Amino acid sequence: MPSPFPLIASPIRVDGVDLRNRIVMGSMHTGLEPEPERFDALARFYGDRARGGAGLIVTGGFAPNRAARVKDHPSLFDSRAAIAPHRRITDAVHGHGGRIVVQLLHAGRYGYHDEIVAPSPVQAPINRYLPAEMTDAQIRQTIGDYAASAALALEAGYDGVEIMGSEGYLISEFLATRTNHRTDDWGGSLQGRARFAIEVTAAVRRALGPDPIISYRISAADLIEGGLDNDETQWLARAVEAAGAGCLMTGIGWHESKVPTIAGAVPHAAFAGATARLKAAVSIPVIASNRINLPETAERVLRDGQADMVSMARPFLADAEIVDKALGGRAGQINLCIACNQACLDHYFLDQTVTCLVNPWAVRELERDEAPAARPKRIAVVGAGVAGIACALEAARRSHRVTLYDAAERPGGQLRLAAVVPGKEDYGRAIDNFENQLAAAGVETVYGTAVDAATLAGAGYDEIVLSTGVLPRALDIPGGDDPRVVGYTEILTGRATAGEAVLVIGGGGIGHDVALFLAHPDPGDLPALAAFEAHWGIAGTARHRPAARRVTMLKRSPGGFGRTLGKSTGWILRQELRDFGVRQIAGVRYLEIDAAGLHVETDGGREILAADTIVVCAGQESNAALATELAARGRPVHVIGGARLAGELDAKRAIDEGARLGNRL
Ligand code: NAP
Ligand code: SF4
Repeated sequence: MPSPFPLIASPIRVDGVDLRNRIVMGSMHTGLEPEPERFDALARFYGDRARGGAGLIVTGGFAPNRAARVKDHPSLFDSRAAIAPHRRITDAVHGHGGRIVVQLLHAGRYGYHDEIVAPSPVQAPINRYLPAEMTDAQIRQTIGDYAASAALALEAGYDGVEIMGSEGYLISEFLATRTNHRTDDWGGSLQGRARFAIEVTAAVRRALGPDPIISYRISAADLIEGGLDNDETQWLARAVEAAGAGCLMTGIGWHESKVPTIAGAVPHAAFAGATARLKAAVSIPVIASNRINLPETAERVLRDGQADMVSMARPFLADAEIVDKALGGRAGQINLCIACNQACLDHYFLDQTVTCLVNPWAVRELERDEAPAARPKRIAVVGAGVAGIACALEAARRSHRVTLYDAAERPGGQLRLAAVVPGKEDYGRAIDNFENQLAAAGVETVYGTAVDAATLAGAGYDEIVLSTGVLPRALDIPGGDDPRVVGYTEILTGRATAGEAVLVIGGGGIGHDVALFLAHPDPGDLPALAAFEAHWGIAGTARHRPAARRVTMLKRSPGGFGRTLGKSTGWILRQELRDFGVRQIAGVRYLEIDAAGLHVETDGGREILAADTIVVCAGQESNAALATELAARGRPVHVIGGARLAGELDAKRAIDEGARLGNRL
């Protein structure tokens, strides 16, 4: 059968290394890098991705010396002690026919500790530590440290290294006038500022010899003031090629950039054009990255000649088998990365081990029992939100016979609701793919009828799982039943439409999502990429289209809005709401609703807020009535997800609970 993605499937040679296809698993920190004693887990993580078909894997970043570390707890690759633990990783990957390079990362002024160094003592706006200016001797020593790490990497069995030269880390800091104010041979002209990048690449090439891979991660777009322009970036690309780089991996945006680069708000393959500019400048393979989570998108980027290979990072957290599924005609069964960052980047920032919202086994593969159940059971899972889906899938994969019920016609629960919010379109695709996985796993699905306790109790199931989710909380004030008052589910499903002036009650994640949904202008004929680039001022001044409605958000608690949003995505949502003129009022007391509008009390006194529509996003309560009814019939049940705990309900916890229960039933 011809491959559905012939370009992805075609092999390619980088330096002297043959790669079996064009998909690279891009670098991600897992949180385990500083703990060599846990490299068995890391080896299993990477080994599974090699088994799943990745053409080339890039590890998370390892520091060539102590000053280079990102965090105080260092991920060092600076001594022979590193060889044995890393050998476990390379053996696991090679055992599955994969190839792997280690990323060498010097954090420069982004390091989060008090020994940070940089070309000039310029503090990063996202760091409280001030870097010390590197001396000439320190610079030369650091170049030597890169080379020494590369030599160690070869001994550990790596197929080469990736030099992290983007995202605002040390090499970027040398390149940009924003951070390099030196007047010696390491600063000044572009040639001077690029000398560090070029000498690092040349030194690493000398250490590796001609065949191992050097992937140089180049910033294709800095997205900051005082960064490189397109011509300078193309010049740099040619210079590192001449210095010995075997391929160019695309990096986008410094970490302090105010432009989103990997969140859901970024259209698929939004930066492939920047990669194409690099490709035009060099003859070595160039790798596209950022927001490429579908094989269709990867194939298109290759077909359009924008890149020679495609990097997917988070999609490999979501599904170790993404390449095999794509190339094996099962693309519709891919566990899709939804770009939420909730369990990957946000975990890393909070010093928690990284995992994945849609795949809670990521970086926890050793905790999963993959053997078929000794005694297959008949299991009912009631509620096909993400907790129920995860439980049903996991139980079926352990060869239980599973029936999944839902009162709605289609599965997905709260996650499907969210799919209409701008930037969350992938949520819908993820649910579609979950449906395909359920079918492939042989789960019987019964949708469109609310199964009752008598039916469940009488059906002879060995286990009953309740994942019946939540019920939105109503607004309990006089006039709360006014026809202008609607729930967020009505708005997001389109059962209710909002007028021109809207009040959103509640400042949680759903309140923010609903405010964005209602304020966001209709894109009309404007392509998503053009709208994104205009909004965030990529290559020009930011241009915001007028909001679709006048939206005001309200909450009872004092203080700023959006504190509960994710660390790596919340700023984007808050900025978009500001851009669309959404008003936010904290510390209100809701009094009543009458013909004039919503009466509230604030520190400033009483106010009447006129509104065409009042959308209630006031949290939820557990919907677990069936558990009580079944208990009365002597049938114990497992209750998971929002049905167990509505407060702080979130999809990450729901899926984790479902998958873990499904695994041990
Ligand atoms: P939530 O985060 O718990 O927020 C509920 C909001 O309702 C709060 O702002 C609360 O604020 C208000 N509230 C609570 N009881 C109320 C009452 N009796 N009357 C009026 N207001 C009341 O819940 P959610 O927004 O429904 O989100 C559910 C979960 O989904 C979240 O925990 C989050 O993890 C997840 N989620 C996240 C995102 C995101 O990160 N973008 C998006 C969607 C969902 P006051 O008490 O201050 O009034
Ligand atoms: Fe993707 Fe979210 Fe999983 Fe991160 S946690 S890999 S963004 S689905």
